[in-house]
Amino acid sequence: MAYLAVPIAAQNLDQARQQIKAALAAGAEMLELRTDYLENLDMDLVQSLIAEARSATKQSLPVIVTCRDEKQGGARTYPEQLRIEILIEAVRAGSDFIDCEYDNFLSTEVQEKIKAVLAESSKTRLILSAHDFKSRFQDINRLYHDILTMCPTAIPKLVYTANHINDCFEAFDLLANSSGDSIVFCMGAAGLITRIIAKKLDSFVTFASIDEKTATAPGQLTIEQFRRLYRYDDIDADTELFGVIADPVGHSLSPAIHNACFADKGMNKLYLPLLVEGSQKEFDEFLNNILSRKWLNFRGFSVTIPHKENALNYVRDKQGFVEPLAEKIGAVNTLVIGTDGKLAAYNTDYAAALDSITSTLGITRAGLRDLPVAVIGAGGVARAIVAGLSDTGARIKIYNRTVKKAERLADEFSCDFAPLDDLPNVEAELLINCTSIGMYPNVDETPLPKECIKKDMVVFDTVYNPAETLLLKQAKQAGAKTIDGLSMFVNQALAQFKLFTGQNANSDIMRKTILQRFE
Ligand code: NAP
Repeated sequence: MAYLAVPIAAQNLDQARQQIKAALAAGAEMLELRTDYLENLDMDLVQSLIAEARSATKQSLPVIVTCRDEKQGGARTYPEQLRIEILIEAVRAGSDFIDCEYDNFLSTEVQEKIKAVLAESSKTRLILSAHDFKSRFQDINRLYHDILTMCPTAIPKLVYTANHINDCFEAFDLLANSSGDSIVFCMGAAGLITRIIAKKLDSFVTFASIDEKTATAPGQLTIEQFRRLYRYDDIDADTELFGVIADPVGHSLSPAIHNACFADKGMNKLYLPLLVEGSQKEFDEFLNNILSRKWLNFRGFSVTIPHKENALNYVRDKQGFVEPLAEKIGAVNTLVIGTDGKLAAYNTDYAAALDSITSTLGITRAGLRDLPVAVIGAGGVARAIVAGLSDTGARIKIYNRTVKKAERLADEFSCDFAPLDDLPNVEAELLINCTSIGMYPNVDETPLPKECIKKDMVVFDTVYNPAETLLLKQAKQAGAKTIDGLSMFVNQALAQFKLFTGQNANSDIMRKTILQRFE
């Protein structure tokens, strides 16, 4: 089930009223009344708050009442006596759930009071919670069992900070192996996926904020992000998972475009941002974690900076399939997990670039033979494009700021090279910018003085934010044909979608989704 619960973290009743209204409008499935945020907290105020929530939701949404201890993330320093009285009052006022810290429940006095009031109510259930804001619990399974041993009817709520995405897997294991209601997820950027996958793994609740300002815990998503970006209403136990492995990953457009296309096709699939920090070791651990848990049902990944080579090495080590040109490029950007658990690795960047060029020029790949091409840059994208173009027999000259890198790349693919300073003397029919020059926010920069752009040139800028870079604007003004990075980006995502699903995605939806994100 996994209720999508919105914490109401208001200082007074007026604010609470507004937050409840906004939470309902956004589609909250449960409210958590965080009474520790209230000023001048007393019984009357809590009764009024619960009544407010009940009447606003027409009694239809379940309500949790929490008065969080400051030691476990509470907003104010209210004394324990008062906090327990508030929970007792909440039970009497008909709250569906109360949340008490397990550490505090260990006190016999607290336990007796809470058990006594719960015995009077046929409705209210107890959530016993534990939080670690720094790292993983010492032994999460032990903690889970201790909670249930102490109070078998309670819902254990275990929340800890993931300092790396690999810290999330014990939360998944606990959810997968527990049979009763439980709430388990991770805080922090590395733990974000646990909040989304919670529904697939049948966690009892996951928490969303109304907006970024009202988030009550690190890494909490907004209700709109859950619903619009991460397809919350469509997730169930059978949902297949995909994602982009990157560091950083927050800026990635891939979750938005793939999820929009999954939704368009009515597919039970979800695409996640996967922040994998570190190098080969951490990457390997991450994929080992995924592959050893078939029940998570991960089926494929986009791979980007800094893991494209790590992904290739991993698949080679596991004796999976590597597309021959990806092997030659030395980097992969797509991994697919077959139904037999075997891995296949591809590079959709070079094919995407070639498709963008051939469709603009109205030629086939064979038509690129002997075409004089200037490639600016010698990084990952330049490498994929040089490999693809050299395969077609184009005549390539590589220009790069660091000449040694240009030389190495040129040697490997039998091309010419030159320092970036030579670019004004460029003689090429196709010119491709594979550097980040001109990318947002440095939109006033261009790799080439505008006087050097000739009318009969085709100018291709792989930068896709903005879609029309200064280089492309000036090329258009000079009368040259242009190709934008967005078309390459969409082409590589289309190719990935095909590898992931066997179907063609709607390219208009992809393009529209990207442009919306740039607004
Ligand atoms: P990369 O491996 O880090 O390579 C960056 C390249 O840009 C290097 O050649 C570097 O030169 C050069 N460079 C960076 N800043 C420069 C500057 N101020 N002056 C001169 N040269 C500079 O990055 P990448 O993965 O190849 O990505 C390059 C660009 O491609 C990205 O910025 C992105 O906009 C674009 N891209 C497009 C797509 C798409 O689908 N359209 C996909 C991925 C990336 P040095 O060797 O001298 O450092």
